[in-house]
Amino acid sequence: MKTTITVIKADIGSIGGHTRPSEELLNSVKKYVSDAKTAGLIIDSYVGYAGDDIHIVTTHTKGVNNAEIHKLAWDAFSKSVAVAKEQGLYGAGQDLLVDAFSGNVRGMGPGVAEMEFDERPNEAFAVFAADKTEPGAFNYPLFTMFCDIKSNTGLLINPSLARGVVFTIMDVMKNRVVELETWNQMPEIAAILMYPGRYVVESVKTKDGEPIVSATTDRLHNIKGTYVGKDDPAMVIRLQKTFPATEEVCYAFKDAHFVAGDTRGSHHMTLMPVRINTTATSYFCNPLVSALLFSSHNGKLTGPIDGFEGSNWDLVRQKAAEKSEGMRAQGFVHPATLIPEELEYNQGYQEIMGRIEKLFRQR
Ligand SMILES: [Mg+2]
Repeated sequence: MKTTITVIKADIGSIGGHTRPSEELLNSVKKYVSDAKTAGLIIDSYVGYAGDDIHIVTTHTKGVNNAEIHKLAWDAFSKSVAVAKEQGLYGAGQDLLVDAFSGNVRGMGPGVAEMEFDERPNEAFAVFAADKTEPGAFNYPLFTMFCDIKSNTGLLINPSLARGVVFTIMDVMKNRVVELETWNQMPEIAAILMYPGRYVVESVKTKDGEPIVSATTDRLHNIKGTYVGKDDPAMVIRLQKTFPATEEVCYAFKDAHFVAGDTRGSHHMTLMPVRINTTATSYFCNPLVSALLFSSHNGKLTGPIDGFEGSNWDLVRQKAAEKSEGMRAQGFVHPATLIPEELEYNQGYQEIMGRIEKLFRQR
């Protein structure tokens, strides 16, 4: 049976700043999705949040980029904005950049990660949902999963992974993609993933075309032309058998690497693995990522369970907090802050630099 997993996420409002959606807002989104299940449009669903972003996970048989499925998510978000406004939630409807749905939510604000495949008898997959960061935040863990034998012995032991995989990487500045393969294009893959602000992994497939990873790649300021909220990413990864094991995939987040995002989307702090449905921290909006583990049979979901619970991950959270504190000790000086072109709320910075420009004299 061909099953499609579609994850569509958006920030449509949160309590007391960029923290988390209200229960009422979540319940509103859940109701629209649950109605679609009753109507037979989708097989199953899960709705949760990572910081201020709500993710809708659906399974269905309609394939990727399906207008009905995308409209379901668009309607669930856009019609729930009324609840966010009624409650005075911060940033109500902020990721919905257009007034009317036009066939596909790509380019309209919400992030989309989806894939269609022949479902295995014991299909297992993970959804990673991040907040206060950007799509390139997944470059480092995806490199660790598929390219770093020292971190993932599965790349030696698993014959499918040992043959290598095909990365599709998007240049978000020029809206173009390139396909690069392990293991014969390792320098090219490493070089392009080195700058996550511009080059972003869109998908990973096996060499015979089986989808393993699909990730959101939209950068909101590239759509709207100005900063309208952080393009917090999500991705789906199939697990086990010919794909990476659950623990190999989750382990790739062990380093709590530095990513762009945080307060005003203008700083570098660590990507902290957190529990499912975690509120964004007021500690300078330390970026966060959650791991939802599902089983699927004929599209019927069991789960999620939490990929980042337990003592080992408490230790990683501690490391992430300490590394972030180290960066914050540097205050406003780069690399604690982003480079000027990447500063998100940069109007104030531009105004100051504009004043300085007039004071320069030629040597
Ligand atoms: Mg967010």
